[in-house]
Amino acid sequence: MEDLFERTILIVDDEEINRILLGTIIQSEYKVIYAQNGKEALEKIHSYGSAISLVLLDLLMPVMDGSEVLKTLNQEGLITEIPVIVLTSEKSSEIQSLKLGAADFLTKPYDSPEVILARIRHSIQLSEHSKIIHATEFDKLTRLYSPEFFFEYASLFDQRFKDKVMDALAINFTRFHLLNQLKGRPFGNEVLNAMADGLRKALLKIGGIAGRNEADSFYLYVPHQEDYDIILQKINESLSSLLKPSEIRLRLGVFSDSERKFPMIQRFDHAVQACNSLRNKTSTTSDIRLYDAKMAQKEVFDAHLLQDFESAIEEKQFKLNYQPKFNIKGDKPVLCCAEALVRWEHPELGFVRPDLFIPLFEENGLVTKLDRYVWEESARQIRRWKEELGKTIPVSVNVSRVDIVAPDMTDFIEKIVKENGLLPSEYHLEITESAYTSDQKHIIEVVENLRSLGHKIEMDDFGSGYSSLNMLTSMPIDVLKMDKAFIRNIQPGNKEMKLVELVLDIAKNLGVPVVAEGVETEEEYKMLKSAGCDIIQGYYFSKPISPNEFSRFV
Ligand code: C2E
Ligand code: CA
Ligand code: CA
Repeated sequence: MEDLFERTILIVDDEEINRILLGTIIQSEYKVIYAQNGKEALEKIHSYGSAISLVLLDLLMPVMDGSEVLKTLNQEGLITEIPVIVLTSEKSSEIQSLKLGAADFLTKPYDSPEVILARIRHSIQLSEHSKIIHATEFDKLTRLYSPEFFFEYASLFDQRFKDKVMDALAINFTRFHLLNQLKGRPFGNEVLNAMADGLRKALLKIGGIAGRNEADSFYLYVPHQEDYDIILQKINESLSSLLKPSEIRLRLGVFSDSERKFPMIQRFDHAVQACNSLRNKTSTTSDIRLYDAKMAQKEVFDAHLLQDFESAIEEKQFKLNYQPKFNIKGDKPVLCCAEALVRWEHPELGFVRPDLFIPLFEENGLVTKLDRYVWEESARQIRRWKEELGKTIPVSVNVSRVDIVAPDMTDFIEKIVKENGLLPSEYHLEITESAYTSDQKHIIEVVENLRSLGHKIEMDDFGSGYSSLNMLTSMPIDVLKMDKAFIRNIQPGNKEMKLVELVLDIAKNLGVPVVAEGVETEEEYKMLKSAGCDIIQGYYFSKPISPNEFSRFV
């Protein structure tokens, strides 16, 4: 049976007797092909490519000699792909051939067949090993270290320089996926390459090593610095030919561990955490954050919450509050509906705000279990109010982007709505704008489905910076909820107010009403009313309140 992994060796010699001699020795282990001069050899190498495992190359030949072949292979970069053993009778040409990249040499008259075979085997093995190493040592795209090697080298560095204070750094391009989506992956790759170039330049100044973890996540292990602006500066410079300054938003997390108390991986986890804590900042510039005591506390707090999640669900520690929304189109504001907002009444930690646990539970998928609990409870509440007050108060529930991934989400909603005898139109869903940017095709499908059942879909936090207008026109939505940030600082005629007017304009063109949330004062309310806003939610009318308070309120 033919060995699938049989290796091919090219013998290049102008003298037939030599070809036969060598061929006879090695054909017991290898497939052999021949060339009579350098020119023919190059032709064979080009057509066989890396199917040739090794070349045995005579130096003195007519037409094109061996040195010429070596030079060409060098120029073409093939010498690192295919090892060459030089055949020579002159001691002096050995050095010359090695300089030209030959892997080894065999001197004529030849040694015993065993020695020849052993040297061939050795050269092939070396070359194959180094190919394997190079395949994983470097990240293919950026030529920075792959994560495994990066950690390996960082640990080696620690062993060698025991007293040096080293920092772990994590670098990211904020919302890189959007760049990929809007400008295409090849462009995204160019950006990553430019980032890597910038990093290399920064390392020339401060020392240390760099690796790419995945996608747009880079790691650096460097001697401790007082400030790290130089890194952002070098990356910025390097990106300046591809992006406008306003499009570049880098974040850098630093973990400094002068006593080397933590294992390498954990140091980088901390750096990543510091880096990620900058993820949702709305500032438009690049930013640096150190992992500090506060973050360490937060980590402990998070671990506490994660550990208590299951029992909290069982013991019904999650409570729902409802915040009324008012239609302000007419003379007097009219209560029209409400939003369900979850709170955690934790037995030890006390009242915990949702923004402390929702993002955490989104990271590990727990949010879906929590949200389904909230959704079901909200459906029951609508029914209770119906019975108690004799009227329907439609409620909107929050949907996390993570929830949408579950294939049975729509079924679940359909079920709880039916079980409580509700109409789908009485049950609204708030989906945050940022969810629309991850997997558009899927989300459109889910939303279309829910709408066809009769549910109303509200786009939450609209304007918080994710979507393009272009995207908005293709989105099936029933209501726009303007992000709270828009309402802060509105004054007649100022920039903020102009933005609000713009959003109202967009909504009018799309034919959907606008909810303004976070309205706290009478002035804000009046400005929004005269600008044509439809619905208002905020402390001005009411904070989120318990179901009982809500009944009294009505
Ligand atoms: P959101 O969906 O944008 O909810 C509105 C937030 O604004 C609520 O914060 C509400 O209490 C607050 N708010 C309302 N009126 C005013 C006002 O006049 N001024 C100010 N400063 N704030 C006002 P809350 O309840 O702390 O919830 C925070 C976020 O947590 C929510 O933002 C939502 O993204 C998330 N969340 C809350 N409940 C749930 C839930 O059941 N499931 C999911 N997935 N997320 C939830
Ligand atoms: Ca909401
Ligand atoms: Ca919102």
